[in-house]
Formats: sequence, structure tokens, C-alpha cells
Amino acid sequence: MNADVDARASEIEAAYRLADGCYLLGSLERGVTVYNQQVRAHNLAWALWERRDRSPFKNIAVVGGGIGGLTIAACLLSLFEASTKVTIFERLWDLSPIQQGADGRWLHPRIYDWPYFGSRAPGASLPVLNWSEGRASDVARTILREFGKFCDRFATENDRLSVYLGLRNFKINVGHKTIDYVGARAKRIGSFFDVDRPEGGTTKFDCIILATGFGLESGANGFPVISYWRNEQLAQPSLDGTHRRYLISGFGDGALVDLCRLTVERYRQDTILYELFGDELESMEENFRDDLSKIGDDANIYELLTEYDQNRLAKAKQEVSNRIRKDTSVVLHIAGKDGKITRFSEIFGRRSSVLNRVMTFLLYRCGAFSLSFEEPSEFAPKNGIEPGHVLCRYGADTLRHLRDMIADHTDLATRLTQMEDSRKQVAKRLWRPGSIPNPGSRLD
Ligand SMILES: Cc1cc2nc3c(=O)[nH]c(=O)nc-3n(C[C@H](O)[C@H](O)[C@H](O)COP(=O)(O)OP(=O)(O)OC[C@H]3O[C@@H](n4cnc5c(N)ncnc54)[C@H](O)[C@@H]3O)c2cc1C
Repeated sequence: MNADVDARASEIEAAYRLADGCYLLGSLERGVTVYNQQVRAHNLAWALWERRDRSPFKNIAVVGGGIGGLTIAACLLSLFEASTKVTIFERLWDLSPIQQGADGRWLHPRIYDWPYFGSRAPGASLPVLNWSEGRASDVARTILREFGKFCDRFATENDRLSVYLGLRNFKINVGHKTIDYVGARAKRIGSFFDVDRPEGGTTKFDCIILATGFGLESGANGFPVISYWRNEQLAQPSLDGTHRRYLISGFGDGALVDLCRLTVERYRQDTILYELFGDELESMEENFRDDLSKIGDDANIYELLTEYDQNRLAKAKQEVSNRIRKDTSVVLHIAGKDGKITRFSEIFGRRSSVLNRVMTFLLYRCGAFSLSFEEPSEFAPKNGIEPGHVLCRYGADTLRHLRDMIADHTDLATRLTQMEDSRKQVAKRLWRPGSIPNPGSRLD
């Protein structure tokens, strides 16, 4: 093997290694998008395969049947020989359950990289489980169909791929590489899965890959938690003509997308950039890229946007101001869970995508929402905001999510903290081009 390729594969293997033979897929990283998780899945599967002479895995468990888990399972099936078995454990009753039926959310492979080159390209262009921009429900459908094709091509032997759904009593012992579970073994019918009666067991694997994502979103202050991926009507005008008041708490991408949906008339994530910048989009992007490269990716962009306000953003601001919703009033609570944020400008750091930060800036300048630094539990009742109209978008407590499923998590505490601090699982394509077969490839 070429020394550079070997070094790259070893670096990737080390970045994902939670313990010997146990890997964590992206859960503690920044840039938590579907596409990024898939890129990480390709990188890890490829690295394990390149290093197969040192770690000849024959029995691999993939925990989590979301898009990340399915992508790595499909990569493993296509890369490794038929003697390597793959088992998927999914807590819910179907694969890719989170985005299924999410008709109101739009997914795009790389729009969160905007204004960088290629960020508007509609296709993911991945060798495994490829997809293009669309409703999240359509993306899930494409991924599941593609997964079915990989199974048809690479998992024809009966026991090559096992899938367990509806898990209960699920615990991983990382040190022993065992998984205790009660779950229903599923039989594949095309891209669907039928289940037998639940069974319990303890199985030993030689490799465990945790693809359990970031965990479910946590709410706060007793307000109901409405997952970002569940269908709701925030973006639709009220049918009874009433005016509604909303409080959004948080300033990550989930919160800022909902801010746009609640404040901009006819808002569509897929068309907004074109509507705001029209013919000037490309020159705007070019200037923006130059300026961002000067201040650095991690910089707070509030000052830059303030500089742009009178010139580069003038047309976009006019467009936004023409489209402020008349049937809602919205307050954005930005103090953060710990109350540390005290000024609006502080939320323009790298906690959200550039696109959503630009939208938030424009909306604020157009007076489309107001700010609150007061606890939602105090602010909402005082201002007549119904509990169902308080949207807490705080993300998930990922470390807790991981601790809940790992029996020996105390032994891994240092490594988990290290992974969270170092964030070495970069979402760049590092696998050797052409090395991962897909159902369309010719096999020798
Ligand atoms: C508020 C919010 C907004 C987001 N917005 C976007 C966006 O606009 N665009 C974008 O591309 N991405 C977005 N994401 C990220 C996106 O949801 C993930 O990147 C994507 O779902 C793929 O990740 P995954 O497969 O790694 O994890 P997940 O999709 O979370 O899948 C993990 C799977 O593991 C299962 N699981 C969990 N625990 C266990 C267990 N103990 N045992 C077995 N199975 C288990 C879960 O049921 C799930 O099926 C957003 C996320 C959040 C929280």
C-alpha cells in the first residue's frame, strides 16, 4: 500500500477510535449535517478497509440506523469481502426514522457551507447512498431505496446483513465489545423490513461503530419539545386570521431556520438566496468569500455584516423588508442556557451557518423580531405567549445520550472529552477516489 494512503487511513482510524475496535461516527463533531455525517461514514469505512491486514474485522456492529449508520453499513458491505458480516441495531421501528415523513423540512447537501465554492450544488455526489436536495422526507426515501440496492448487490448471502429494530434494554460494553439487547430481528423485503418476535441476547463483535447521532433534542423549563423533524405549520399563514406570538429560544441553525419561517412571507429555504441576491449572487459570494478568508472561518461576522449593510446587503434587506409576515410577532431569546450571552452581536460566531447568520442579521435590521434575555419560563407568561408557541432549540445532550447506552462509559470519559475538544473527524472527502464500489460498479 502507498505510504501516504496508509498514513491517511491510520489518521482517520485514530480520529474515530473511542477504544480498541470501537468507533464513534461524528456525534461530538461540529458541522452536524446529513452530508457531513455521510462523508465521515465513507472516510471511516474506507480507513478500516485499507487497514484490514492489521484489523481483519469479520463481525461488525453498526449501532444506529439513521442516514449516517446506513451509509457506513452500505460502505462496509461494498468494501469488505462477503465473509465480513454487518449487524445494524436501530432503537426505533424502521431505518432512517428521523427524517421520514418530514415534508416541511428541506435538506440540501452543502448549503450550510455557503458562500464557499460548490455549496449550492444540488447533488451530494457521493459513491454510496447518493441524494439531491429536496424535502427531508424525499431524501429519506432516496436513501432507503439506495440502501435496498446496496443490500441487493452486496448482501445476498442470508447472514451477511442482520438488522434489529425496536430495541429495548440496549447496552454496549465497549471494553468487552459485547452488546446486550432485546429487539426484533428484521427480514428485508426490498427496501422495507418486516420483523419477527422480539428476542433478547448478548452478542460479541470484533468491531462496534456507534452511529447514534447527537441524540434527541432536549427542551427546557417545562416547555414541550417539538423535534425539528416533526411536521408542524409554523411556515403557514394562520387560517383564522389571528395574530400569533412566538418565542424562539436558541441561536443554532434549528432556531434560526424557524426564525425565518416565522418571520418571512413565503419563505423557502431552497429559493431564498436567489430571491435575495438575484443577479448579484455570484459577485456577492465572491466578495464574501474573500472577506471571510481574511477574518478566518471561526470569526464572528457581525462587524462584517454591519459593513455590508449599506452596500452589499442593501438589495437583500429591501427584499426581506417587503416580506415580513403580518400574522406573527416573534421574540428571539438568545441568552443561552447558561445566560452568558448579553448582546445580539455575540450570536454571530460559528454556532450556526453563515447563511442563517446573514438572514438573522437582515431580519433584525428590518425589525422582523425582537430580542429577549429573560428566562423563557418568565418571559412567555408575562407576554401572553402560549407554551405551545415557545420553541426551545437547544440541540441534544450528546454525552448523556452516549453514556446512556454504554455500560462502561466511566472508563471512556477521558477519551470522550478529548474527542469533543479536538474534533478531528473533518467532513472532507479523504477516501481514495474510486475505491468504494457501488451497485453500478463492475466487480471482478
Ligand atoms: C435541530 C436540528 C436541526 C438539524 N438541521 C439539519 C439540516 O438542516 N440539515 C442537515 O443536513 N442536518 C441537520 N441536522 C443534523 C441531522 O439531523 C443529522 O446529521 C442526520 O440525522 C444524520 O445523522 P446520523 O445518522 O449520524 O444521526 P441520526 O439521524 O440522529 O440517527 C441516529 C439513529 O440512531 C438511533 N439510535 C439512537 N440511540 C440508539 C441506541 N441506543 N440504540 C440504537 N439506535 C439508537 C436513532 O433512533 C437514529 O435512528 C439537524 C439536527 C438537529 C438536531
